[in-house]
Amino acid sequence: VAKTVGEMSTNMLKLSHPYEGIVILDAFCGCGGNAIAFGKLPIHQVSLVVCIDLDRNKLRMAAHNAYLYNIPTDKIVFIEANTCFVMDQCYHDGDLFYNGTPWNCYMSPREQYAGYTIGGLDLLPFHIDLVFMDPPWGGVDYNDLGKNGYDLAKNMKIQYHNPFYPEDSPDGVVDGFSLVKMAASATKSKIVIYDTPRNVNKTSLGQAALNAGYRGNIKLEEHYLNGRLKTVTTYFGKDFGELLR
Ligand code: ADP
Repeated sequence: VAKTVGEMSTNMLKLSHPYEGIVILDAFCGCGGNAIAFGKLPIHQVSLVVCIDLDRNKLRMAAHNAYLYNIPTDKIVFIEANTCFVMDQCYHDGDLFYNGTPWNCYMSPREQYAGYTIGGLDLLPFHIDLVFMDPPWGGVDYNDLGKNGYDLAKNMKIQYHNPFYPEDSPDGVVDGFSLVKMAASATKSKIVIYDTPRNVNKTSLGQAALNAGYRGNIKLEEHYLNGRLKTVTTYFGKDFGELLR
């Protein structure tokens, strides 16, 4: 995925900083596996990786791992927050915006860990170019849904109580469709990369794309380990028509 992102970055119109690498938002950082792979890309391809996670201990583990992989300390930043809040309330068309809603709910304390900065929303950069997300799939039960049985609208549930607009998420959850929509509206490029379970329903992926305003094609990439399908990564926001010829 990182290799593809590197290639995309080279071809991408770098909207605000044409000579710099892109800024990637890793929406569910966890222990940082993907973020570190992005961080290893050359600076002219990726200038900053912004890692979001609800769990500060996960962010500390990710910072420790970034240290082991020698990621420059100014190329990756760790932010403790709900990613839905960040994509929904903090960015629009790639730019940080402030719509008057107080952010103090995610103004987490700042610390240095393994040389990296971990903190709250005050660390968000002014601009993001692309969103990568590997969200929680809802435990191991996804496997029981069978081939093509994982429906993004029904089976993915991300915890999010919007403190300002509770009517946006009345039951306190965001589904896999809304997640794509939030990510798309947070970026200007509309390039969103979405990791889903191997049994993701492809029709639901297409519907999620339409629901988020995409038209044309999307690219699905199946990842195999030891001959077994493990995950499906979806690339939204670019014309992949040349792959069909
Ligand atoms: P794991 O990868 O450890 O099995 P999950 O798949 O449940 O964990 O979630 C992946 C990561 O996403 C975890 O580190 C979790 O803390 C984080 N996470 C879950 N929900 C949110 C959210 N709404 N905002 C930010 N991070 C989240």
